[in-house]
Order: sequence, then C-alpha cells, then structure tokens
Amino acid sequence: MSEATRLASLRSLDILETDSEETFDCLVRMAAEALGTPIALATLVDEARVWLKARIGTDATQTPREGSFCSTTIDCREMLVVEDAALDPRFVLSSLVTVDGIRFYAGAPVMLADGEVVGAVCVLDTIPRPAPDAAGTALLRGLAAAVGHLLDLRRQLIARRLAEHRLAEQARLLELAEEIAGVGTFRLDFSDGSVRQSPPIFAIYGLDANAGVPSTESMLALYDLEDRRCIEAAIERARLSGEGYNLDAKLRRADDGMKRDVRVKARVQFDAAGRPAALVGVLQDVTMEKEALALINSRRIEADRRADRMRHLASVDALTGLPNRRAFLEDVGNALEYGVSVNLAVLDLDHFKSINDRHGHEIGDAALAAFGRIAGRFADEGCRLGRIGGEEFALMVAETRDAVRLVERLREAVLAEPLRLRLGTEIRLTFSAGLARSQPGDDWSSLFSRADRALYRAKNEGRDRLAIAA
Ligand code: GH3
Ligand code: MG
Ligand code: MG
Repeated sequence: MSEATRLASLRSLDILETDSEETFDCLVRMAAEALGTPIALATLVDEARVWLKARIGTDATQTPREGSFCSTTIDCREMLVVEDAALDPRFVLSSLVTVDGIRFYAGAPVMLADGEVVGAVCVLDTIPRPAPDAAGTALLRGLAAAVGHLLDLRRQLIARRLAEHRLAEQARLLELAEEIAGVGTFRLDFSDGSVRQSPPIFAIYGLDANAGVPSTESMLALYDLEDRRCIEAAIERARLSGEGYNLDAKLRRADDGMKRDVRVKARVQFDAAGRPAALVGVLQDVTMEKEALALINSRRIEADRRADRMRHLASVDALTGLPNRRAFLEDVGNALEYGVSVNLAVLDLDHFKSINDRHGHEIGDAALAAFGRIAGRFADEGCRLGRIGGEEFALMVAETRDAVRLVERLREAVLAEPLRLRLGTEIRLTFSAGLARSQPGDDWSSLFSRADRALYRAKNEGRDRLAIAA
C-alpha cells in the first residue's frame, strides 16, 4: 500500500473541509471523558497536514503533518502512546511540543474497509501521563474502529449517490434521445404480460399518460385489423422462438382518430436459462417520413412520365403519328450497325404540290395523315415505317420479307381508300418508290442514296411505280 493509494482512499471520502458532525463529536467526547484528558481528536492525515474532523479541547482545525503524532500512528498502523513527548526524540522538536505544549499522546489508527489507514482517534494532554490501561486502550481502538465504519458508510453513500446520479442522467439522456428521434420504448414481460413504456409511446398512440398503464389489448385495438394480426403473430413468435421483428403498421390514434404509420422494432431478452423472458422494442411514428417518400415517389413517377412523353414527342411525327425522320434513321442505323440486312423503300407521293394547290394546305395535311394511317397498318415486327420528309415516307423491311410485295400491297391499299372530301370529291394518292437492299459496309446514308436513285428513276419512268436499285 502506497501513500498515493492511501491519499486516493482519503480523497474518495470527500470529507476534508466538511463541517463538524455530531456523531464524530460524540465519539471524541467519549474518548476525552473515558481517558480523562483535556484534548481528544478524530483526525485525517492529508498529504501535508493533519485535519481535525472532530475535536475537544482545542480550536485548531489542522496542524502540519511534519512532526505530528498522528502521522506516526498511521505510518506504523498501530496504537501509538507517547507518555512524555519532551523525552521522545521523535517529537521533542515538534511545534506541537515546543509551541503548543503537548506532552502526552495516545492514538489508535482509523482503518477503512479497503485496508487504508486515513487518520486516528487520539487523546492528548499538556502534562505527561502514563499509558492508558487495557480498558482505555480498548476504548480508543473501539472508537477508531467506529470512526472507520462511519467513514466506510460515508463512502458507500457517496458511491450510491453517484450511481443514482448516473442512472438519472442516463434516463434523462434516453428521454431526450427518444424525444429527438420521435421514438418510444416498451418492454413486455412474457411472465405476466405486463407492459412498461416510455412517455412518447402514449403520444404516438394518442393515449393519456395520466390515465394509468393501458392494456396491451387496448393498444393493439388501435391498429388496422390486418396489421394487428401481424403484430400479434410476431409477438407470439418472439415469445416462443425468441425471434425479434421489425414491421411497419397503420393505426388510428386514440385521441384525434388520425391515421398514423408506425414502425416497430423489437428484440427478445432471455432469462438465465436462455428462455425468452421479455420483449423490448422501440416504436416510431413514421407518418411524415412515409408521406415525404410518397411525395418524392409521385414526383419521380410524374417526371418519368414527362420524360417518356418528351422522348415520344421527339421521335414521333405529329401529323401522321409515324416515327419521324430522326427516329427512323436511328432505327436504320442501328440495324445496319448490328449487321442486320434490311430492305429500304423510299416513297414519295406523286404530284403532291398540286393537291395543295387545288384543295389547300389543310386538305393536303389531311391527305398526308390519311396516307400515314394506311401505311401505319403495315408496320409490324418485320416492317418499320417513318415519315422522313414533307410527302416522303420510308419502309425498312426485314430481308426475310418480300419487300416488293409489301410495297405493292401498300399501293393497292392507298388506291382502295381515296380521301373523300365533301361534295363528293375524292383525292386519289399515288406514290413512286425506290427499293434498295443493304450491303455489307452500308450505313444509313449510303443505303438511302441507292434507294433515292431508284426513286428518281421511278419518277422519271412515269411515277406510280416501284424501281429497284441495281
Ligand atoms: P413529284 O411527283 O415530283 O414528287 O411532285 P410533288 O409535287 O409531290 O413534288 P414537290 O417536291 O414539287 O412538291 C412536294 C410538295 O409537298 C410541296 C409541299 O407543298 C408539299 N408538302 C410537303 N410537306 C407538306 C405538309 O406537311 N403538308 C402539306 N399540306 N403539304 C406538304
Ligand atoms: Mg418530294
Ligand atoms: Mg412528291
């Protein structure tokens, strides 16, 4: 045992500089009376001083440790008796002797339960005296032991207060954390079905915290029926198998009837034998979170829809509803890039300018739309259509398909469905077409050039016909 641990033990008592206490005063009074001395003390030996917790016969509150009787008592951890200090070389020069005139000292060390000696109970006199008799010695020892017990009790009290303070602090922290996180905690004891819960739980359920602990039944009754069944099943599973659970559920708050979304996370506590003993968990109102998520989701869906629409608008010709030039060329380019052989037919309506001239631009538009509708019916897996210019259209036909036949069928269909105007007028459309088959190394523009040259030939040869590229 070192002086450092002894001092640490003394400090843990937190007693230095405290007021006098009746219990200690009583004990030293007993010592003075029993041994018939004018002075009696209960001392604590600090690093450089002897501090007097209780004193009879002196007004001093402390003395220097150097040369003190009590310092010697605690050093030898034994009862010390000095019958005449003036004759004792250890104390003859001490100020206690030279200044205060002390001649007699008898002191018993005060030992704590941890074995540290922190002070002494002693009697002093200004005249030399014989050593106390056996009864006096026993009494001094007994009083020192009593002081030691009192100090131990004091230390236990301090430790308990500290523990209580820490517990209260933890409880406050938990409460604060619950408040910040908007969660409540609960504990369901499997042995008797009793429930303990923190205040936020009441708020989440909309229950009055002052109306006593609500039954599990009354809380479960707030949930939507299906969710309630899920929770009951989860609790039962937890009780039987020790399995925890996380689930989201909907409930109707008791006070205002509002629909709330809650999230519950629960885990099982086990007893010493490893059996499920209790269910502990947290409950959180996640209504706002869910609402925010739903809002974000609906915004995302709306944005996706808008993007789809934009993509559609960017690739579709407004008048005919067919893929526009950009979309069609992209398809042709992609097919060629993937090494797919295709037939490309470029169609140009014959003398279309004269339709505009004769009937007006609007009728011209209607004629284009009608042609688009008829041609659109030919679009399928093996045939893709597009409007690639004013009155120019194109067909990309799979190489497995008879492209010549397809163009001829389109010609027949267009012929069979003239655009009927009011007053019995009919507009009969014809078209000229050039057909080219893709060759290795083609890109869309080289393929188009060949089909265009064939189209030119068809026009030159009298229109309303199909020319095939060489
Ligand atoms: P050809 O047989 O040589 O092809 O004669 P054409 O009159 O069809 O050819 P031209 O290239 O001289 O004229 C094409 C006409 O198509 C000119 C233009 O007014 C008309 N046109 C192009 N786009 C549209 C459109 O969107 N709506 C209408 N109403 N007319 C259009
Ligand atoms: Mg043209
Ligand atoms: Mg034309």
